[in-house]
Amino acid sequence: MTVQASRAGSAGPVGYAGPARYHVVARQRETHDTVTLALRPVDEPIAAHRPGQFTMLYALGVGEVPISISGPPDGPDLIQTIRSVGAVSRALCAAEPGQVLGVRGPFGTDWGAQDAAGASLLVVAGGIGLAPLRGAVLEAMAARERYRRITVLVGSRSPEEIVFGEEFDAWREAGVDVQVTVDRAAGDWRGNVGVVTQLLDRAEINPMATLALVCGPEIMMRLTARDLHARGIPARDIRVSLERNMRCGVAECGHCQLGPLLLCRDGPVVDYERAAPLLTIREL
Ligand SMILES: Cc1cc2nc3c(=O)[nH]c(=O)nc-3n(C[C@H](O)[C@H](O)[C@H](O)COP(=O)(O)OP(=O)(O)OC[C@H]3O[C@@H](n4cnc5c(N)ncnc54)[C@H](O)[C@@H]3O)c2cc1C
Repeated sequence: MTVQASRAGSAGPVGYAGPARYHVVARQRETHDTVTLALRPVDEPIAAHRPGQFTMLYALGVGEVPISISGPPDGPDLIQTIRSVGAVSRALCAAEPGQVLGVRGPFGTDWGAQDAAGASLLVVAGGIGLAPLRGAVLEAMAARERYRRITVLVGSRSPEEIVFGEEFDAWREAGVDVQVTVDRAAGDWRGNVGVVTQLLDRAEINPMATLALVCGPEIMMRLTARDLHARGIPARDIRVSLERNMRCGVAECGHCQLGPLLLCRDGPVVDYERAAPLLTIREL
């Protein structure tokens, strides 16, 4: 049996609309360079989102970048987790409660985790790749009885860089098998050391009844998806999140073209059947 459907997500709205104003209501530091913001609309909110979709988040006067929604679809606030890597993400990470940001979206395809109903959901995350997956985990957890098994495998460079680590015990209590590994550890780390694909050896995987969602650095997604496929999971039941620089968010500017796909519309979530040849193309 393969999982119910192999459709990765639903397209977001089309046509350019200006940003909606949101203000920061809470700011939580995840790691030394990563922050989670809770945002609340000042005026009209954006449309409801599905886990895996992203917004174009605008730090006023600095710039606008794509950021995945890391909260569940039915939460009261819009939750986004940002790693500071450049001018815009740095400004977003520095946003304090009360500050106004611009939000467009939600855009792109979603994980479609509900397609695994009756089967097992396997989530594999590398680093901040857990942010786009968190909403899917929380949504599946809230309907735990619909899935045979929910497994979350997390890889991080070091213990200090694990995001949402303080939530893992609650996820386990809710019936999710959470396994964590780090590339390198010092001090009092007693957990696994090694790359995230090593955790696959320990996970119980029924390849014909598993939907796998994979997000992390491109090399990690390539190796993980290849490994899962070699274990017998059909390529259409493995989904990855492809990231490219995006500008318009509505498939008009062409910045995010990857092969035949405009990733702001046809991605970011793409099944491995279509993603495999694209995972070898480097961004210019
Ligand atoms: C669909 C999508 C969802 C994303 N979700 C998140 C998220 O949830 N949290 C988060 O922190 N970031 C996310 N990103 C990445 C984020 O958009 C970039 O980090 C941001 O655009 C960097 O902008 P900047 O001005 O801060 O830095 P820049 O000065 O533009 O870039 C700094 C460095 O980051 C690299 N970079 C820029 N854009 C990307 C990209 N899209 N992917 C990988 N590397 C990039 C650049 O090559 C450069 O090395 C997402 C990207 C996409 C396309």
